[in-house]
Amino acid sequence: MATVDKEALHRKYREERDKRLRPDGNDQYIRLTGRFAHYLDDPYTPVTERAPKTDHVTVAFIGGGFAGLVTGARLKEAGVEDVRIVEKGGDFGGTWYWNRYPGAQCDTASFVYMPLLEETGHMPTEKYAHGPEILEHCRRIGKHYGLYDNALFHTEVLDLTWDEARSRWTIRTNRGDAFTAQFVAMGIGPLHVPKLPGIPGLDSFQGHAFHTSRWDYAYTGGDPSGAPLGRLADKRVAIIGTGATAVQCVPHLARACQELYVFQRTPSSVDVRDNRPIDPQWFAEVTATPGWQQRWLENFTANQAGGLADEDLVMDGWTDIARRFRSRIRGIPRAELSQETMLAAFEDADFEKMEEIRARVDAVVRDPDTARRLKAWYRQLCKRPCFHDEYLQAFNVPGTHLVDTDGKGVERITEKGVVAAGREYEVDCVIYASGFEVGTDYTRRAGYDLVGRGGLRLSEHWADGMRTLHGVHVHGFPNAFIVQPTQGANLISNIPHNLTEAGRTIAVTVRHALDHGYAEVEPTKEAEDAWVELLLSGAGPLLGSPDCTPGYYNNEGRDPGLKGRLNVGYPHGAMAYFGYIDQWRRSGDFDGLAFRSGEIGT
Ligand code: NDP
Repeated sequence: MATVDKEALHRKYREERDKRLRPDGNDQYIRLTGRFAHYLDDPYTPVTERAPKTDHVTVAFIGGGFAGLVTGARLKEAGVEDVRIVEKGGDFGGTWYWNRYPGAQCDTASFVYMPLLEETGHMPTEKYAHGPEILEHCRRIGKHYGLYDNALFHTEVLDLTWDEARSRWTIRTNRGDAFTAQFVAMGIGPLHVPKLPGIPGLDSFQGHAFHTSRWDYAYTGGDPSGAPLGRLADKRVAIIGTGATAVQCVPHLARACQELYVFQRTPSSVDVRDNRPIDPQWFAEVTATPGWQQRWLENFTANQAGGLADEDLVMDGWTDIARRFRSRIRGIPRAELSQETMLAAFEDADFEKMEEIRARVDAVVRDPDTARRLKAWYRQLCKRPCFHDEYLQAFNVPGTHLVDTDGKGVERITEKGVVAAGREYEVDCVIYASGFEVGTDYTRRAGYDLVGRGGLRLSEHWADGMRTLHGVHVHGFPNAFIVQPTQGANLISNIPHNLTEAGRTIAVTVRHALDHGYAEVEPTKEAEDAWVELLLSGAGPLLGSPDCTPGYYNNEGRDPGLKGRLNVGYPHGAMAYFGYIDQWRRSGDFDGLAFRSGEIGT
C-alpha cells in the first residue's frame, strides 16, 4: 500500500467528519406522530376487526420479526405450546414485512442470514436473497411452528405491567386487549421506527411523498419482486438519503423515472456484491450433513468477528474486511505484536479497502464530477458498509442526477419540491430513504414502558444506560426477556445469529422454570452488576468511534456518555460470547438467575 498517503487521508477524513458534525445529533430527525403519523400507515394489509383478548398465555412475545419467530420456534421445540406473538404489522416478517421497496435484499449471505433453513428445509434461491423470498420464509417459519394460531397482528402494545400478586404480566394493547402472560419476551428490532429529516416545510409539499419502509406501489407501479415501476415514466422523483436502503432501490428508480434526483449528504461505501443463484446440487452437498447451518453460522462469525477459522465458507465483503486484517496481523513479527501495532494493521487494512472502493467509483461512474462526489471518506465500519453492483452504475443512466449537498443535507421542502445547495428541484414525488430511529431510548422505540417489580419502570432502570445479564435478562423485571444483540454478542454483520442464540437461551430458561414449577425467574442484582462491569472493562464501542463521520453507528458523532459505553457487546468478541452462552445453557446451573417457587395465581 505504498501509494497511500496516510497523513493526507487522516486529514481528509477529519475534514469530512467536521463538516457533518451538528449540535442537534439525533434531534435533527422528526418523529412520525401527529400530522406525520400517516407516514406509518400499513400500505400492505387491511386491518381486520377482532374481539379483544382477555385470556392467559404462557409466553407472550412482542414483535413478529426474526426475533419473535426464532424464539417462538425454540419455545415450541422445547414443548412450550402456548406462545402468543403480538405484532404491529399485518403479518410476520418485521423489517421484511415493512421494507418492500424495490431491490430490497439481504446484505449478509442467505445461508447465515435466513434463520432456521435447516429446520424448515428451505433452499435460498440466491446467495443474497431478495425481500419477497425472505418475507415468505418468515411466513414459512410461522406456519412450520404453528405460530400463526395464537398471533395478534396489527396490534401494538401500550402497557406491560408486572402483576406482583399473581406472578404474571398484564399486556394491554391498542386493540383493547388486556391479557396476561407468565413470561414476556420482546424483539422489537433496532430499526423499526422510521424517521424523517427535520427540515422546514416537510408538510407543505403538494406532490406525493412516502418513506421507503412504506413503499407506495399504487403510485409507482411495479411490485416488490422487481417488476418495472411503470407509473414513474413521466414523473420527476426525489429520493433523500443514500444509506443501505437507497443503495438498493436507486437502480430501480433510475430505470423507471423520467428524472431522478438523488439527494446525498454523505456517500455510502459501496463494495462489490457478486450475487448469484444457488445451485441445487451444490446445496444438496452442503446440507447433507446435519447441523450444516450452525456450522456455517459459526464459520461466518469466526471469520468476521475475531475467530481463527481455517476456511471461509461465505467468502464475501464482510469476511474480506477481517481476512485483510488477519493477514496483516500475521505479517507482524511476534516481538512487535502489541495493541498499537494491531490497531495500525487494522487501519492499514481499512485504508487499503477504502482506496479500492473509491477506485471502483472512478472505474464505474462516467462523469468525473459525479464520481468524485460519490466517494466515501471515512473508515469502512464508520457507517454501515454497502454492497451493490448496480448502484454506482445508476448514475450513468440519463435522467439520474446526484445532488450532493457536501455534508449539509437538504435545506427545505417547498410546495413544489426540494431545496438543496441553494437550488429548488421541482418534483412530483419525494421518497424519504432517511432511515430509522436508533440512538433513542429503548422504551421510546418500543412505544411502551415496562413496569416491573415494585413499580420500577424500565426507562428508570436504564436511565443511565442499558443494564442486563447476557443482553437477555433484566433485574427488577421477572419473567421478562429481551432479544437483541447489545450486551450479548453484538454481531452487527449478522443480526439473526444474535437472535437465534437469545431464542435458545429463553427457551431453556422457560423450560426449566416450567419443569420445576417455578413461578418466577429473574437475574440477581449482583449478576447484572457483574455483567455490566465486565462490559465496561472492554475496549468500548466497536463501531463508529467518535472520529467517524456522524451516523447512527456513533450516535451522530456526539459523545453518548455512559449510555454509549454500555451500548457494547461481550468484551472478548462475538465468537467468545456464543461459546460462553452455549456453555452457560448446557451447564444447567443458570448461573446469575434466581428462580422462585410459588403459586402461579389465576
Ligand atoms: P440510514 O440511516 O442508513 O440512511 C439515512 C440516509 O438519510 C443517510 O444517507 C443520511 O445522510 C440521509 N439524510 C438524513 N437527513 C438528511 C438530510 N437532511 N438531507 C439529506 N440526506 C439526509 O437509513 P437506511 O434506511 O438506508 O438504512 C438503515 C439501516 O437499515 C442500515 O444501516 C442497515 O443496518 C439496515 N438495512 C439493511 C439492509 C440489508 O441488510 N439488506 C438494507 C437496507 C437497510 P447521513 O449519512 O449524512 O446521515
